[in-house]
Amino acid sequence: MTSLLETPRTRSSGQVPASQGTRRRLVVIGNGMAGARAVEEILARGGAAQFSITMFGDEPYGNYNRIMLSHVLSGEESDADIFLNSLSWYQDNGITLHAGVRVDRIDRFTKHAFSSDGRVTPYDTLIIATGSHSHMPPMDGLYTPGGSVKQGVFGFRTIDDTRKMVAYAQHDHHRRAVVIGGGLLGLEAAYGLRSHGIEVDVVHSAGHLMSAQMGPDGGAVLRRSVEALGIGVLTGSRTTAVLGSDSVTAVSLRDGTVIACDMVVVATGIRPNVDFAVLSGLPVERAIVVDDRLRVQDEDDIYAVGECVQHRGEVYGLVAPLWEQAVVLANQVTGTDTSALYLGSRTATKLKVAGVEVASMGLHGPELDTDEHIVFSEPSRGVFKSIVVRDNKMVGATLLGDSRKVAYLTQAYDRGLPLPEERIGLMFDLGTPEGDTGVADLSDDAQVCNCNGVSKKTLVDAVQGGCSSVAGAMEATRAGKGCGSCKLLVRQVVEWAADGAVVEDPAATYYVPAIPLDKAALMAEIRKRGLRSVSAVFQALAPGGEDAKSKMGLASLLKMMLADRYIDERDARFINDRVHANIQRDGTFSVVPQMKGGVTTVQQLRRIADVAEKHNVPLIKLTGGQRIDLLGIRKEDLPQVWADLDMPSGYAYGKSFRTVKTCVGKDFCRYGTGDSTRLGVEIESRFQGIEAPAKLKLAVSGCPRNCAESLVKDVGVVAVEGGRWEIYVGGAAGAHIRKGDLLATVDDPEEVKILAGRFMQYYRERANWLERTYSFVPRVGIEHLRNVIVADSEGIAAQLDAAMQDSVDSYEDPWTERTDPMTPGQFRTSLPLTVLPQVPVR
Ligand SMILES: Cc1cc2nc3c(=O)[nH]c(=O)nc-3n(C[C@H](O)[C@H](O)[C@H](O)COP(=O)(O)OP(=O)(O)OC[C@H]3O[C@@H](n4cnc5c(N)ncnc54)[C@H](O)[C@@H]3O)c2cc1C
Ligand code: SF4
Repeated sequence: MTSLLETPRTRSSGQVPASQGTRRRLVVIGNGMAGARAVEEILARGGAAQFSITMFGDEPYGNYNRIMLSHVLSGEESDADIFLNSLSWYQDNGITLHAGVRVDRIDRFTKHAFSSDGRVTPYDTLIIATGSHSHMPPMDGLYTPGGSVKQGVFGFRTIDDTRKMVAYAQHDHHRRAVVIGGGLLGLEAAYGLRSHGIEVDVVHSAGHLMSAQMGPDGGAVLRRSVEALGIGVLTGSRTTAVLGSDSVTAVSLRDGTVIACDMVVVATGIRPNVDFAVLSGLPVERAIVVDDRLRVQDEDDIYAVGECVQHRGEVYGLVAPLWEQAVVLANQVTGTDTSALYLGSRTATKLKVAGVEVASMGLHGPELDTDEHIVFSEPSRGVFKSIVVRDNKMVGATLLGDSRKVAYLTQAYDRGLPLPEERIGLMFDLGTPEGDTGVADLSDDAQVCNCNGVSKKTLVDAVQGGCSSVAGAMEATRAGKGCGSCKLLVRQVVEWAADGAVVEDPAATYYVPAIPLDKAALMAEIRKRGLRSVSAVFQALAPGGEDAKSKMGLASLLKMMLADRYIDERDARFINDRVHANIQRDGTFSVVPQMKGGVTTVQQLRRIADVAEKHNVPLIKLTGGQRIDLLGIRKEDLPQVWADLDMPSGYAYGKSFRTVKTCVGKDFCRYGTGDSTRLGVEIESRFQGIEAPAKLKLAVSGCPRNCAESLVKDVGVVAVEGGRWEIYVGGAAGAHIRKGDLLATVDDPEEVKILAGRFMQYYRERANWLERTYSFVPRVGIEHLRNVIVADSEGIAAQLDAAMQDSVDSYEDPWTERTDPMTPGQFRTSLPLTVLPQVPVR
């Protein structure tokens, strides 16, 4: 339980603190997308001067974009990147946030809210924004006798749910999942789990997938696309029991089928969080009943917004309505526009599963005899389009496999845009209104980005305020930063607002900021002019001269291109590369001796222990890459520590090849089919220390059990049956989690070394500075990589191999320079050390 600005107390005095003056007390229950958005809208209308604002949220965080949880689950986004309002935002805006605190009930007569921490908070105006929770349908075996959900069963609603699912899916022994529910959420959950290498079956009770959003014909095409992702689909099936005593082992279906699995995700819909409203005597039907002003029925000072709301009989489960509601609510609460009314929303949905384009809005098919229904179906390509037109207005559309027209159709549906006479133009680019015409027709308050609730006017204002590049306007407004389906429309609006004068964000393609060239052009210039040092490159190619931010990228590029012909200038290096050690928070360094493939000897261990003892090393720690880290070494002691160790550097610091993690492999392990240790050592010996655009971490596993975690490495190798080896590229398991893509399966370890080296050289030559392989591989595409690296489609394989060999041949252990500092200050402490709390040593 965290309270940002106040410490809990059992009873509030009910007095308004002096600093709050005559401001009214606004209490918001629920700190999700609707609650936080309503407060943002209130602040935008001068609400801070009118109200002292207190918010309660039972999740222990600031406010995050729940939509993006699907991307977090699939590893396309890190959970740190989805926060909309950090805890400091509340502080900066004078909002008291009680994060991790639930409101249990309110007393609507005395106007107090009672929360789980014993606090009693008075209010003048109350906003309820409690959202929904995952619905768990009745089913045998879902709960333990203690009443908690069985281990291995998950809902999919919160950041905590998502983190737990990722951890469970990545557990060695968890290989199979069943997702109950084949709607949007279920399919996104299935795709996310599949991305972690889990086998997934979706069980859906209706006859076709996404039955709430599309008809059977579209559902059939969708099924083929989902199955093509390796996801099993069972429609017309109902799960009746979850089996397993302590944790999930299987599910059984109504027809008696049993599907073995380690985890179950329940995605069978949501239920509004209304318990506390019921307990407090508020009007609740399917959700809390509100009027067009978003006021709770028969209450003067209580408003509700978001998924917990029932308005004119409708309960919405998407964000677009809550943005519209938040605007009306803020106008009402602040008195800015008391005539503002919410009259309901038209909603459109989009599936966020890479490679399966699905968008749906309104009707799936005709309802009246006079409705026009235009259908195009091409199942072999996974394309299906259906549009329903009534009275010359678009009243529904389903688009699968080709969403190029989504932006235009969404606007046509929302705003009743003019439709082309030739209806086919609604589906294909014939006779469709020009992008510009469509955009000009949009009203100012038309929502361009539904995920982040950005209107056309907000984007236009950003452009007029100086954001004349699409990237700049997106950054300034958050438009296009949700599911991404509106990016085309965002571009069109920005282009229209800038009257054609859109500035392409120039720096976006530069390899380093100071030189206006992309990587290929920069390399060509360096070669043509025979440049060999960072300063020479600046002199020849940087219009504004030297630039600190560009130095490291250039140094790395030159080293990669020229190997030992590169002229090393120390000031082009980052501190870690200057002293060949990793700088720590307190200004000391860590020293990591090399242990190829995690293999060591008695002599090495003894020497490391002796050095640690001699130099009073405060902390010795095993790293995630199977090496020993000696932490807390002062800069001036580094040369002596290395001299005493007399071992090569383990490269724990630079933008370079680092480690090859290995499992024990077939010599020792009962399951091993390949000698992973030996291959790991060989790979590490060959590529040690080579420069790269970002760090490279590798692994070799002796069988598909993958004890060395090869699937989440920049290059991961797995021994499979028949003495063969699979090579995966582009995996990651840090801030970003991604399962690598299979590059090739080869017959012997020599081929592994060749292809791994060729891939790394291609990456070294083509990737942007600091671009990890987990971004590079999806950007260039695994098919393309396979063609170039395995099939040599561009005829450059020999060239790549030779360039890598050049780097390998020029390898020198940086610690050989320890007795002869390159600069007088190389190993002199120049900064006072920060005193850190002692790391507890157990
Ligand atoms: C995985 C996933 C993907 C989605 N994808 C999309 C999409 O692509 N497009 C789309 O439009 N929508 C999508 N949605 C739906 C969208 O996220 C919701 O419509 C939106 O978050 C609803 O906002 P809300 O504020 O009403 O509820 P929430 O965001 O759920 O916020 C409610 C908050 O109130 C808290 N709370 C509840 N009761 C109390 C209490 N008594 N005291 C204190 N706090 C309380 C809850 O813990 C929660 O933090 C998705 C949802 C999920 C889960
Ligand atoms: S991955 Fe390696 S250690 Fe794990 S089971 Fe297979 S051979 Fe054994």
